[in-house]
Amino acid sequence: MSAPPFPPELVRDVAKRRTFAIISHPDAGKTTLTEKLLLFGGAIQMAGTVKARKSARHATSDWMEVEKQRGISVTSSVMQFDYAGHTINLLDTPGHEDFSEDTYRVLTAVDAAVMVIDAAKGVEAQTIKLLEVCRLRNTPIITFVNKLDREVKPTVELLEEIESVLKIDCAPVTWPIGMGKNFRGVYHLLHDQTMLFQAGEEHAGGATELIEGLGNPKLDAMFPMEMGPTREEVELIQAASHPFDITAFLAGRQTPVFFGSGINNFGVREILQALVEWAPPPQQRDAGSRMVEPAEKPFTGFVFKIQANMDPKHRDRIAFFRVCSGRYSPGMKVQHQRMGREMKLGNALTFMANERVHMEDAVAGDIIGIHNHGQLQIGDTLTEGEALHFKGIPYFAPEMFRTARARDPLKSKQLQKGLKELGEEGAIQVFETTAGGALLLGAVGQLQFEVVAQRLATEYKVDALYDAADIHTARWLSFPDEATRRQFEKDQMLRMAQDVDGNPVYLATNRYNLELLMEKWPKVKFHATREHG
Ligand code: GDP
Repeated sequence: MSAPPFPPELVRDVAKRRTFAIISHPDAGKTTLTEKLLLFGGAIQMAGTVKARKSARHATSDWMEVEKQRGISVTSSVMQFDYAGHTINLLDTPGHEDFSEDTYRVLTAVDAAVMVIDAAKGVEAQTIKLLEVCRLRNTPIITFVNKLDREVKPTVELLEEIESVLKIDCAPVTWPIGMGKNFRGVYHLLHDQTMLFQAGEEHAGGATELIEGLGNPKLDAMFPMEMGPTREEVELIQAASHPFDITAFLAGRQTPVFFGSGINNFGVREILQALVEWAPPPQQRDAGSRMVEPAEKPFTGFVFKIQANMDPKHRDRIAFFRVCSGRYSPGMKVQHQRMGREMKLGNALTFMANERVHMEDAVAGDIIGIHNHGQLQIGDTLTEGEALHFKGIPYFAPEMFRTARARDPLKSKQLQKGLKELGEEGAIQVFETTAGGALLLGAVGQLQFEVVAQRLATEYKVDALYDAADIHTARWLSFPDEATRRQFEKDQMLRMAQDVDGNPVYLATNRYNLELLMEKWPKVKFHATREHG
């Protein structure tokens, strides 16, 4: 029996989707690039819009600001715009590194990523971590080397650094001519054209002057100092580096590299072009029992992020849902797989730059926002009936821990409820120790604790006390058999805990002890990540 053919309009619409995120170390230029991409896409009219959001984001110490920021990031979490006949979904990742857990999950919902590198600084810590996450799914990466209008590292050195630190092959697509005050433009290796650099912030669609051929004497007349070295470099890399290979790119093994200056809107259009031409449309996804094709008629997808809404009084949340197949229509009924019950998708939201609009239509690759009153968790799958469960939304082992207890013991139940819900939302990870049953909060960043404390106080009316816990990291455990499990748990009782779903977790005081323990128990598996659901 052959499967029914895919509906042609779905095939057509899915092929037009490009869903991606920008990854970078703070200050490399992600906000600037986002803004310029939106300008090209006609989604915003004015430079400065995204910036304003970011400045709100930076003021993280005061609660009102955190609150404002959460509201702001609801509207800016997903930006949809059209470019060159395609529908582009840009998923924002929180800039502050304290929210990196959230960032990781967003990366499970994209089909490609744009990596921004500050050319003066090279590969930085946050970029390394984010790329590791992309690698879990072999996400194709397009690289934008930014800030060529500054004094930066030599180009060849930068490429070598990316290759050796990030373990990904580089295929330069453009090559910079000069840098800093002498930045002249970029030579496009595939088109054999030079695009002349022009400083200036606002010209969104403005034509860049093009000069054909690298040997063109016009270039020598204009840039007598820079052309000699540029030609030598280009000759060298054409002989020595990897030519662009779409298959290697789609497999996540090779990244096409572009040079430019985000702030000057230079090199940005090439990134959009690469997304449209090379980045993959939505792909099939692993849903446990089978792979789901994006153009299949039945609607499916999963929740990858939950965010509290602007208005804390209503405690309503938005679940961000990635469509994996079929077509969303308002009011449709779906099956909530974990709860085993029907749900109506009333008025899902989409997010266009600054405002929320009601979503009328969404296909694979699109993100819809579903009002959530606690029924949806990160990792939840919705389908039109078939029992499926989309894979690969990770929890990361926390690196900071606090114990929590209610100041008023009568509020302990309320504290537990609040922590459970905030844990489900992904704001924090919650563990219960085996000995003593203490509640332990685990976070990737300090700010998560502040947010949770404030939300417990305002939304759940619990005043809690938080104490530092002497824990370095946690590992999820899997055992070869029941006897080993019992023996291990007995042996390590004081260091054992359970996560919210009842999975066994080992709490390590330091890396050295953890390594010793792993040597002692070679058959026990220690996992630094765990999948939701
Ligand atoms: P983010 O933290 O990655 O979002 O970085 P931003 O986009 O906010 O940029 C960080 C800083 O670098 C800001 O002061 C920007 O104005 C500046 N910046 C961004 N792109 C460029 C560029 O192409 N050239 C120069 N010179 N500065 C840039």
